Amino acid sequence: MSKSKENIKNGSCPVYKKCGGCQLQNLSYAEQLKFKQNKVDGLLKKFCKVEPIIGMDNPYNYRNKVQAAFRTNRQGKIISGVYQSGTHNIVAIDECQIEDKTADKIIVAVRKLMPSFRMTTYDEDTGKGFLRHILVKRGFATNEIMLVLVTGSPIFPSKNNFTKAIRKQFPEITTIIQNVNPYNTNLVLGDNQKILYGKGYIEDVLCDCKFRMSPKSFYQINPVQTEKLYETAIEYAGLKGEETVLDTYCGIGTIGIIAAKRGAGKVIGVELNGEAVRDAIVNVKANNLKNIRIYKGDAGEFMEEVAEETEKPDVVFMDPPRAGSDEKFLNSLIKMSPKTVVYVSCNPETLSRDLEYIVKHSKYKVKKIQPVDMFPHTAHVETVCLLSRNK
Ligand code: SAH
Repeated sequence: MSKSKENIKNGSCPVYKKCGGCQLQNLSYAEQLKFKQNKVDGLLKKFCKVEPIIGMDNPYNYRNKVQAAFRTNRQGKIISGVYQSGTHNIVAIDECQIEDKTADKIIVAVRKLMPSFRMTTYDEDTGKGFLRHILVKRGFATNEIMLVLVTGSPIFPSKNNFTKAIRKQFPEITTIIQNVNPYNTNLVLGDNQKILYGKGYIEDVLCDCKFRMSPKSFYQINPVQTEKLYETAIEYAGLKGEETVLDTYCGIGTIGIIAAKRGAGKVIGVELNGEAVRDAIVNVKANNLKNIRIYKGDAGEFMEEVAEETEKPDVVFMDPPRAGSDEKFLNSLIKMSPKTVVYVSCNPETLSRDLEYIVKHSKYKVKKIQPVDMFPHTAHVETVCLLSRNK
């Protein structure tokens, strides 16, 4: 692959090779889009024509959620940064071209404050020490910021003075949370959380709807492109009013809430993560909607139950994690037989597998496929698909 003029002009990332997070940095943005188009074409063209990928006007600093790991190096100096891909080695960085700039500044500021508050870094080998990770989430529309300190132990003697000091530097931090993760695990967040300041969540706005999110609930990481993704999904649903809509794998309720605002008669959301379910229920109220119910549970099991009921949904949105859906879900979907299925996917490989299964076992046909670039400079690509039943 050739080193492009655009990246030479922009100055490509100094830790591109070491970090491994941005697999496509050596390509110009136009070449990246072509790469992703080819990838989706290769996997999905057999179902129907793939629309040209929707790219980003300014494909930098788009991540609203930023994580950093902390360690003390051999010289006794505290470093922070990202894991070298596939390892637990930290690539020390102060800024990253795809991350939110304020989030990066907060991480550096915390690191610089640590010695004066006698905050140590956690040591994965011994299980001793304090700070493991920092997670920052920023609402791009509201400028509310959540700072989560992930610590190996719950004891945080200087917490009040520390929270004051960091808020003095960044008044836009509206909530600070301590998450305790004492386990030997690859998961960043542990089970126990304590709010040190503020409400414990932040709010953002997408497609004219308000959404609150907690530390552990899923929220799309590129809000600029998410609006384009959701607009496509809603357009594909073809809502005329009064439809019954299922929003499966609904997270904090985003797609279902937007669908209800755009005229759906009744929306039912299902989500496995308890924290996201709590957020979704609050979000329904915050958007003054009465026609939405949110259920906590496995989407496949929920679909099995709904497939047995007499009142069948007209539209099913599905937005599973990278692993895709399962046969329990897909069989129930086929049995339920809604007029329209809108599949939102962050992994074209599992999307292709699931579409294959649906098309083989039912009368559904794939009618539209729209890739959206939610993750510029990385190899990831998001896709929205419309399926309709053949009469
Ligand atoms: N539609 C939402 C969330 C998509 S991410 C949005 O656009 O923001 C996928 C979601 O599926 C996550 O919130 C995850 O917690 C949830 N999830 C994962 N496995 C699940 C399962 N088996 N059943 C229901 N939800 C699941």
